[in-house]
Amino acid sequence: MTGPRATAVAVLGSTNMDLVAFVATAPRRGETVAGREFRTLPGGKGANQAVAAARAGGRVAMIGAVGDDPFAPRLRAALADAGVDTTGLRTVPGASGTAHIVVDDEGGNSIVVVPGANSTVTGLATGDEERIAAADALLTQLELPVEGVLAGVRAARAHGVRTVLTPAPAQPLPPELLALTDLLVPNEHEAAVLTGVAEPLAAARALLALVPEVVITLGAAGSLYAARDAEPVSVPAVPVRAVDSTAAGDTFVGALAVAVGEGRPVPRAMAWAAGAAALAVSRPGASASMPNRAEIDTLFR
Ligand code: ATP
Repeated sequence: MTGPRATAVAVLGSTNMDLVAFVATAPRRGETVAGREFRTLPGGKGANQAVAAARAGGRVAMIGAVGDDPFAPRLRAALADAGVDTTGLRTVPGASGTAHIVVDDEGGNSIVVVPGANSTVTGLATGDEERIAAADALLTQLELPVEGVLAGVRAARAHGVRTVLTPAPAQPLPPELLALTDLLVPNEHEAAVLTGVAEPLAAARALLALVPEVVITLGAAGSLYAARDAEPVSVPAVPVRAVDSTAAGDTFVGALAVAVGEGRPVPRAMAWAAGAAALAVSRPGASASMPNRAEIDTLFR
């Protein structure tokens, strides 16, 4: 897949340091347990989608904030190393966003996210509107204050830039945000929270009352596309031995945005993104596991 130029993607979203403790069994309230291993891994849904899109061949600008703590330089470097432009990533006083994750031996996890610097992104800063206007698509999620997300999608709509919203963590959405969303990409759980409907096809149909295009991701069962003017399309996952599904959804969305920006119809872009996500699932880590364009192209051209 070679387009005339790289897809330009702006990501308005969270940047977090994931602080991961691996334990046999997670502690109950009041209990202390010995962990086996500890890792610090750059993450956050925004930063993960930015890295995924850059690896997939996009020209990516990150908009968000980190703190002035020891995590910040590593968070910034992780994005820059992937080729993401971090000029729009502000530094604010205080702590960077952190996710405190306990992973047990059965692969189950519990997570506390402390937004830190992400909570300061309540609007656009100097240069952000230009970054958004220069993009083919703006990717947003819900780990920033909703006022900040709204400011971004308003700017995108004003400049005719396609808006792609991952409604995670799951929560009710303000009507204005839905009205400014071109493509909504929930997972099965988020789609159910938004619609009150558990069955994915019925949930997709319900979501079309709110947004013109929907992709519901279904883990190993693939993904489902629905648009107002077309029959729903089911796209299979690429079968792999799952090693670590962390950030599968973010890898999928980043690759999807790049492929759509290159002119692929959404269902074909979903097949390509499914290849990217499958590769990420087949190896350990979050952004560390995300494939580059050449790897994705070996699965799908
Ligand atoms: P996460 O929260 O882990 O980032 P998510 O819940 O947002 O994930 P999923 O629906 O689990 O998103 O996965 C997104 C896409 O990744 C799926 O549509 C599929 O293409 C791919 N995928 C996920 N899990 C697997 C798997 N076990 N095998 C192959 N592909 C997978």
